[in-house]
Amino acid sequence: MFINEKLREVKRWEDYDTIKCPNGQVIDMQKLLDDMERVKVALVHLEPFLGSMVNRIRYIYTFKVKTQATDGYNIFVNPQFTYNLDFEQKVFVLGHEIMHCIMDHLRRGKQAGHNPQKSNIAADYEVNSSLVDLGFTTENIVKKSKALFDHKYDGMAYEQIYARNPSNPTQGYQSNSSQSKQAEQNQGQRGSDSGNQNQKRSKEYVDGWNQAMKDYKAGKIKI
Ligand SMILES: [Zn+2]
Repeated sequence: MFINEKLREVKRWEDYDTIKCPNGQVIDMQKLLDDMERVKVALVHLEPFLGSMVNRIRYIYTFKVKTQATDGYNIFVNPQFTYNLDFEQKVFVLGHEIMHCIMDHLRRGKQAGHNPQKSNIAADYEVNSSLVDLGFTTENIVKKSKALFDHKYDGMAYEQIYARNPSNPTQGYQSNSSQSKQAEQNQGQRGSDSGNQNQKRSKEYVDGWNQAMKDYKAGKIKI
């Protein structure tokens, strides 16, 4: 059988049993892939509506991002960063990237002509607050992951948070579009019963989610 030489040369981290990270740590790549499958199952179990998203997104394992990042179509996964998270953190981080896709943050930020860095910060506050609100994760797990979280943004939409000039006091997990851009160049209803019922939700926040659900059901969502 003919095998294209170029294809044969293509190596993916997923093809290796173990991989050596740039700083020397050797990780069990097959265990990471197994864990990621379990993370996807957990996310779909928590919210069945995520099923098609979780399965249609392309996962690209690369050291070109420091954590995880998305461009709205692909999720770029740093194998070492992800491997070293505990299971609950893995669910949180992947859920975080998927929420950026669902909430269409890249388009919203660009459309408004927002500063990319501040845009990422505002988007992360909305995502993390929503993940807690919807019961995907807890405030403790978000904080343990040193991700952006502040109750003052509870129930606010991305645009409202951006307008309040949010800052980034953490050095921990954040994804951002500049990371995903770099990687690219190189290659239901809000208010679930399991969420935080005390969170006050602004009209913009609820409307944004309802619009996302409407688009999704109409087959308009891009992923
Ligand atoms: Zn993010």
